[in-house]
Amino acid sequence: MKTKNVDYVVTPKAPHFVGDGFRVHNFIPSAYRMDMQSMDPFIMLDYNSKYNFPPSAIPKGVGVHPHKGFETVTIAYKGRVEHGDSSGGGGVIGEGDVQWMTAASGVLHKEFHETEWSKTGGEFQMVQLWVNLPAKDKRLAPKYQAISNASINRYALEDGTGEIEVIAGNYKEIAGSASTFSPVHMQNLKAVKGGKADFSFPAHYNTVVLVLEGQIKINNAEVVPTDHLALMQNEGEDFTIEVLEDAVVLILSGEPLNEPIAHYGPFVMNTEQELAEAFQEFNEGKFGTLED
Ligand code: MN
Repeated sequence: MKTKNVDYVVTPKAPHFVGDGFRVHNFIPSAYRMDMQSMDPFIMLDYNSKYNFPPSAIPKGVGVHPHKGFETVTIAYKGRVEHGDSSGGGGVIGEGDVQWMTAASGVLHKEFHETEWSKTGGEFQMVQLWVNLPAKDKRLAPKYQAISNASINRYALEDGTGEIEVIAGNYKEIAGSASTFSPVHMQNLKAVKGGKADFSFPAHYNTVVLVLEGQIKINNAEVVPTDHLALMQNEGEDFTIEVLEDAVVLILSGEPLNEPIAHYGPFVMNTEQELAEAFQEFNEGKFGTLED
């Protein structure tokens, strides 16, 4: 097997607000070589780096809005988020939990800071990722997976230096906790200084490494600081991560769907015709109802 090297280390762009509850750095689709087609099946990655929200009697967030044709995955690192959707899915996620919403044929949903957390406020850190669905699955019924941190399968690193939470796909013999529609690996490496882990993904899978805490070195060569993302090359399979400062690292790798992408706002389909249909369905109220 050949080494998969870092293509380049992406510096976070200036943050912007999504609604009034998420202060994010957008990584996909934006930076060089990180448009939707290049990062297929990952079509959007917003990262709310650590940010202190003041107490608020009225929870901050994003009101009712639609999605169709893909999945939204929210990983909570700090703070608590409440989600509800028109298919009946929903719940609260806190530190280490994951919500995996399959919008598929279309849903309305809303995402807010959890009411009690909002009253005290505090440090908030999240990742929201959009994973595209294969064309054949875009019309399936919506689905919701609530994945508590305790239910996530784990791989223990040598010498008790840390662990890898396997959210989806697999790490060595450990299978991920979420079900996916195409091959997607999603893992959190949580380790202390000196911790080491090796990873192996097929060369053509699109792969990124996001450092949420601490500092790491990839392949004993590239240093990736906090809040930076390493885009890995589409050559070679194997790479190593060495933890330089106690770290939390999100590793994503997915097989490209290699299907056309037609995107507008909250809809991601394969053709312009299907996008027009999505708008029409939304305007006709076919995504159900959800109260603000
Ligand atoms: Mn949304």
